[in-house]
Amino acid sequence: EPDPTLRPAPRPEDADRAMRPETLDEFVGQAEARANLRVFLQSARQRGEAMDHALFHGPPGLGKTTLAQIVARELGVNFRMTSGPVLAKAGDLAAILTNLDARDVLFIDEIHRLNPAVEEVLYPALEDFALDLVIGEGPAARTVRIELQPFTLVGATTRLGLLTTPLRDRFGIPVRLQFYTVEELELIVARGARLMGVPADADGLKEIARRARGTPRIAGRLLRRVVDFALVEGEGRITLAVADHALTRMEVDGLGLDGADRRYLRLIAENYAGGPVGVETLSAALSESRDALEEVIEPYLLQQGLIQRTPRGRMLAAKAWTHLGLPAPRPPGQ
Ligand code: ADP
Repeated sequence: EPDPTLRPAPRPEDADRAMRPETLDEFVGQAEARANLRVFLQSARQRGEAMDHALFHGPPGLGKTTLAQIVARELGVNFRMTSGPVLAKAGDLAAILTNLDARDVLFIDEIHRLNPAVEEVLYPALEDFALDLVIGEGPAARTVRIELQPFTLVGATTRLGLLTTPLRDRFGIPVRLQFYTVEELELIVARGARLMGVPADADGLKEIARRARGTPRIAGRLLRRVVDFALVEGEGRITLAVADHALTRMEVDGLGLDGADRRYLRLIAENYAGGPVGVETLSAALSESRDALEEVIEPYLLQQGLIQRTPRGRMLAAKAWTHLGLPAPRPPGQ
């Protein structure tokens, strides 16, 4: 008989998956996107056709993958998932496309990172549901067209600006995902606590929501850590005091900023007198990739009005000086 203690512990991704909403009704927030998708889904179902291709863009953790899975489920079709960097050769994509059933959803994450040769294969697939394969070499080479089943591509990207124009133009349904409000995150955190079977006070849940950086994935992660503290150091209940203690121990501050956010702000304040300073300079000084700054750190700081992007670089806003507890420098000439 197998030793029960050897059973693998649940991994964080499993908890993440367990919390994933499965229908459009369960999906909280993104009201406008959801209302539009509901129409496109119903229309596709009524026509018995594949839904038009959709492009979901926005910062990581806002629900792009989740929404793509919901689209497949609501259409009653298979969900196939891959990502831009994984598709090294044209043949990799061709193999996936030829195996799709009629009206399936193919999800390509990080679609801005597709290799150009792979992207070429995608164009006729998206437009005509066909693959153009080159057979033979030199003067004997000829193109053979292979018909595909009609399908829906759902692309996801954190960087809309990095998509080539021809690729971007082939998506009939562009959807921009927004940061979530505290009220929306409260609903998500409350549902998560319920699914984990952990009792919670409303103000404890609200504290997690307030400090989740507008992002469901972060809300889920903070919730699991607060539950750890509630079980080990508290009475097993999510209270305001436990939530505040756990989040402070994890160095998540009152605005929901983490260590990396504060390092970014403090660098501009202390080394560049509040800016403007170029993103490359910040990237080098922080040893963070430019992509990480532009995709992960800056969108939330911009949304919160802590920084501004100017043609000459990034600048701290007054709110950031206050948050750091530093005096804002006086503008020159005053
Ligand atoms: P992305 O693909 O944009 O990086 P995901 O779809 O992977 O984001 O979402 C991250 C996690 O956040 C998921 O595991 C899911 O549980 C949760 N999540 C995202 N959006 C919602 C939502 N609207 N309601 C509830 N949970 C959500």
